[in-house]
Amino acid sequence: MKYKIDLHCHSIASGHAYSTIAEIARAASKKGLQMIGITDHGPALPGGTHDFFFSNLKVLPETMYAIRILRGVEANIMDFSGSLDLGENRLEVLDIVLAGFHNPCIQAGSEKENTRGMVGAIKNRFVDIIVHPGNPAFPIDFHQVLDAAKDYDKLIEINNSSFGVSRKGSEENCMRIAELCLEHGVNVAVGSDSHIAKDVGEFGKVHEIFKKIGMPEEIIMNLSVSRFTAFLKSRGKSRFV
Ligand SMILES: [Zn+2]
Ligand SMILES: [Zn+2]
Repeated sequence: MKYKIDLHCHSIASGHAYSTIAEIARAASKKGLQMIGITDHGPALPGGTHDFFFSNLKVLPETMYAIRILRGVEANIMDFSGSLDLGENRLEVLDIVLAGFHNPCIQAGSEKENTRGMVGAIKNRFVDIIVHPGNPAFPIDFHQVLDAAKDYDKLIEINNSSFGVSRKGSEENCMRIAELCLEHGVNVAVGSDSHIAKDVGEFGKVHEIFKKIGMPEEIIMNLSVSRFTAFLKSRGKSRFV
């Protein structure tokens, strides 16, 4: 199994990440990737992007170091109805929209409230991928979230950083979510959630659990650029239709 795409990368624009887009692309190229999503945090996360950052992503070249660059965001879910911190006028021009819970943009609610917030984000027509749903700080009803992802043709992220530096205690949840994606037929997006160039395309921990549960290739959206661009086209992304 060869991963060609990393759908979750942070540049210095995020404020607490340490590489430029060019540095990330160069590292991705050396590792044999073909496509990366630049998905800096939405404007509600302190110290990061301004709203204008996303409207101006159009200046990015199509490719850098022969890596296809997707213009994206990791938007913050701001409330339990699933509102995001970036307006539709910004979201509609992006290639990929990730959404998830982040402190301090929202304080975790009950499992019921968190689930409602996540399902609300899934229903947002611009959202493509729900990120790190296994975060134990924001308990959710896995079945309800995955049913919604299936109904709305959204991807569920299995996040490599959740097995290491971020969101302590995620491993068991992420494993369970991966198994449930397989059972429910929900496609998954693997993300490094890299905050420095050397971590781009690092999916070792996720790959281990995929091997453990026998995850078939057809569920994993990172293995083929042509398949992923077809997905973006089916999602009506303006640069792909
Ligand atoms: Zn971050
Ligand atoms: Zn995140």
